[in-house]
Amino acid sequence: MPESLRAHALAAKGFMPANEGDALHDAAVLAGRECPGLPFVEIGSYCGRSTVWLGAAARTANTVVFAVDHHRGSEENQPGWEWHDPTDVDPRVGKMDTLPMFRATVHDAGLEDVVVAVVGQSPTVARQWRTPVALLFIDGGHGVEPARLDFELWVPHVAPGGYLAIHDVFENPNDGGRPPYEQIYLPAVGSGRFTEVSATGSLRVLRRTTGG
Ligand code: SAH
Ligand code: MG
Repeated sequence: MPESLRAHALAAKGFMPANEGDALHDAAVLAGRECPGLPFVEIGSYCGRSTVWLGAAARTANTVVFAVDHHRGSEENQPGWEWHDPTDVDPRVGKMDTLPMFRATVHDAGLEDVVVAVVGQSPTVARQWRTPVALLFIDGGHGVEPARLDFELWVPHVAPGGYLAIHDVFENPNDGGRPPYEQIYLPAVGSGRFTEVSATGSLRVLRRTTGG
């Protein structure tokens, strides 16, 4: 990860620690080598922090990253919840809007040519998606149903040899919420189609091993 880009990632508001971002970047570079020409997809961009690591890898791999987010915040980002930031609310609309911050992050990092924002609900986008994906990074809604749908609708798009990265995977319930672990990580490993290649903090990186 180039140091200048790393500084942009760290300057952005968000939920990705540096060591996990670096692991995500390195997995994406490998995915780009394994699946030349295929894009990366990020589910859940928030203010673009993790997107910078993926965008840097996309530049290296000569591909692009589609950053999918409705920018209205997850359940846990809403007023009254633990992960709420009042400055994320658009007062005119009375809802969260992280798209302006996302755009500023991507602009400042100089990654507008390799990062494509897809503003919409993850399941809606997934149902129209037709392109195999070199690396899928899932960090969207962490409730049971959003996580389950991200697994069901997005994971089949990972190309053979491609990578699946999952954030906020907590094996121990004392460390955090369960849905990314129970609804995404366990079913992916249990499918027999993925093997774990690395674990960094709450980031798990799996590789798709077989076709079909
Ligand atoms: N990857 C980011 C953090 C993402 S936070 C970082 O590194 O900082 C989770 C994001 O998922 C929020 O921005 C929220 O708007 C988005 N999200 C949650 N559920 C979604 C859904 N169903 N469709 C699209 N985006 C969703
Ligand atoms: Mg996260």
